[in-house]
Amino acid sequence: MSAPEGDKIEKLINPIETYPPSPEFIAGTKIPADIREHAEADRLEFWAEQARTLEWETPFTQVLDWSNPPFAKWFADGKLNVAVNCVDRHVHAGRGDKVAIHWIGEPGDTRTITYNDLYREVQRAANMLEDLGIKSGDVVTLYLPMLPETIVAMLACARIGATHSVIFGGFSSSAIRSRVDNSGAKLVITADGSLRKGRKFPLKETVDEALAEPGHSVENVIVIKRADKEIDWQEGRDLWWHDAIATTAEKHEPQAFDAEHPLFILHTSGTTGTPKGLWHSTGGYLTQVAFTFRTSFDLRDDDVFWCSADVGWVTGHSYIAYGPLANGATQIMYEGAHDYPSLDRWFEIIEEYKVTTFYTAPTAIRGFMKSGREIPLRHDLSSIRLLGSVGEPINPEAWEWFREVIGSDRAPIVDTWWQTETGSHIITPIATLDALKPGSGQKPVPGVVVEVIDEQGNRVNPGEMGLLTITEPWPSMARGIWGDEQRFIETYWSQFPGRYFAGDGAGVDLDGDLWLLGRVDDVMNVSGHRLSTTEIESTLVDHDLVAESAVIGAEDETTGQAVVGFVVIKDSQREAASQLDVEAELRAFVAKRIGAIARPRQLYVVAELPKTRSGKIMRRLLKNVADGKPAGDTSTLTDASVMAVIEEQVLARQ
Ligand code: ATP
Ligand code: MG
Repeated sequence: MSAPEGDKIEKLINPIETYPPSPEFIAGTKIPADIREHAEADRLEFWAEQARTLEWETPFTQVLDWSNPPFAKWFADGKLNVAVNCVDRHVHAGRGDKVAIHWIGEPGDTRTITYNDLYREVQRAANMLEDLGIKSGDVVTLYLPMLPETIVAMLACARIGATHSVIFGGFSSSAIRSRVDNSGAKLVITADGSLRKGRKFPLKETVDEALAEPGHSVENVIVIKRADKEIDWQEGRDLWWHDAIATTAEKHEPQAFDAEHPLFILHTSGTTGTPKGLWHSTGGYLTQVAFTFRTSFDLRDDDVFWCSADVGWVTGHSYIAYGPLANGATQIMYEGAHDYPSLDRWFEIIEEYKVTTFYTAPTAIRGFMKSGREIPLRHDLSSIRLLGSVGEPINPEAWEWFREVIGSDRAPIVDTWWQTETGSHIITPIATLDALKPGSGQKPVPGVVVEVIDEQGNRVNPGEMGLLTITEPWPSMARGIWGDEQRFIETYWSQFPGRYFAGDGAGVDLDGDLWLLGRVDDVMNVSGHRLSTTEIESTLVDHDLVAESAVIGAEDETTGQAVVGFVVIKDSQREAASQLDVEAELRAFVAKRIGAIARPRQLYVVAELPKTRSGKIMRRLLKNVADGKPAGDTSTLTDASVMAVIEEQVLARQ
């Protein structure tokens, strides 16, 4: 851990152009203008008010119990049912006809699912699970594509108090097995296959492989038919979803669960190491997810929300499954790849469904920048009112492009910083209140208290960088690493007593606004100067030629560490790049923008960067290779061959 304390970077001390909210944008918002002051006046009462917007079977009397840190209890003596909150209460309030999900299959098939439909399906699915003996306290593993049934299965688990553990549908059989063993899951719900880029991928087959060795806890496997794929069948263990659901009872009487009951277990993306299996609560989680969904995205009654993440990541849990549904919103759920059958796909969906609020990741935005603005611009994207970014720092260049091209030159962007561990947004501007700064997360969510500190635990001054910590418990915080309390304490709570620290660096500008600077482990020390990878990457991407970049600090005999950059050239600039000494040009560009100290020692033009399946750049692999070591564990990479190609390129130069 190395804090970039003391160093100043340009954007923290220089005023930049900001985008204040327009009167047209603010008109009709439900967000009170004094929401932050209100939250600060009495933080716990503020969260209690948010919690009371949910339906409780037994109202809570206690807000926070922090008597055994870092294990928080929120609203602990209250009881509620998450599925009732996400479905039944909207139906009971007469909003059952509202569309919950516009589902779009990759081959072009579509389904419109209202809250009434969800009400019917979730009750049946809950009965189906109970028929199999699943009850409160059991764990159910979901290994599924992006189907309406995926959401129905999550809600059915919640309805009966079973804890779900979703495993991203691209993971291997060994990843499934280790997660099943860790959670003691009794049931796996999967599909015969998934459809991606026009091809069929195995899911059931992978589950079979995971369960081939005996000694596991799984008693049944429910299979959803999606891909019409030949599969093996284990009589007595396997059953079809459509058969089981057709023969079960229609009505299901929900039961309320303790606010602290475990709603789900979910693993981190594995960007920095072995994924950690965090578990989340019922009442506190739903409270903050529901609150941040309506506040960060300035929810309006007729919004059509779209989060492009996969349900296998926390973004999908909080802002596809629980946040939108708890608020009775309408959303898009798209099954397939962004570039199938062509790069127009997402924009066609936005145009056709008149999406108002679009939440995606910087990697997607940079991908579209790489292929050129003509593609989005041949669609009518004028329905978009608000944009959101999540997953990695968004560089100002990508922010501006996103606003201009996808946001019709007017839509505000909320850059939301948070983690699997935090359950929901922690830092984000509020688009109706803040003058937006491209590339900055700006402010903590109302009711959340963060502090940027140096290695000694002192708050940094405005204009400086440091370590991002959360100083007070928040409702949607993870309640632990499943089955490993000690690792939870050590990983997040031991560096600074009483504070949560999850490894990201941040800067505070002269206005007190926050800038996320990437992983602290990725901060470099070059001749005693601390440099942020994010800062150099952002500069590289600002160059006309560059679509994407990754920067690492490689071992260096003279300077301790040296900057090594990897860049991907924009499609439209390939021709221009071939006429130039790209390496010399970009090294000089960085030196001019940031200073000679940041000039990359080497710069590699690569075809693709290594990314996790959630789309994040895996810098540690690049660092290993630059240091002349084997790349290391590539099992959480989307495409392991990317690393092999880069390794060859680097070796050829050493
Ligand atoms: P692992 O913990 O296994 O290494 P991970 O941290 O990538 O994986 P997630 O919980 O999915 O797993 O991601 C959270 C991390 O993503 C944050 O700690 C941060 O580094 C990054 N991140 C998310 N949103 C933003 C954002 N808006 N700006 C900057 N970084 C972000
Ligand atoms: Mg992490």
